Amino acid sequence: MSKFRFRCRNTGKECDYEMTAKTREEAEEHVRAHAQRFHDMRSSSSITDLVNRSLEEVEDYRD
Ligand SMILES: [Zn+2]
Repeated sequence: MSKFRFRCRNTGKECDYEMTAKTREEAEEHVRAHAQRFHDMRSSSSITDLVNRSLEEVEDYRD
């Protein structure tokens, strides 16, 4: 099993937001909401770019 992890700090922002999601779609939704609310990012394409650059697929070792 793997999951998707996003750490806002990895995008160069002074921000401790971090989240994981089971699917890429779910992760993108969370990142999009966060970026709009906390970083005033309105452009859909720049948020997509943020997701593409910073979303990591990691192993989920929990059962
Ligand atoms: Zn952030």
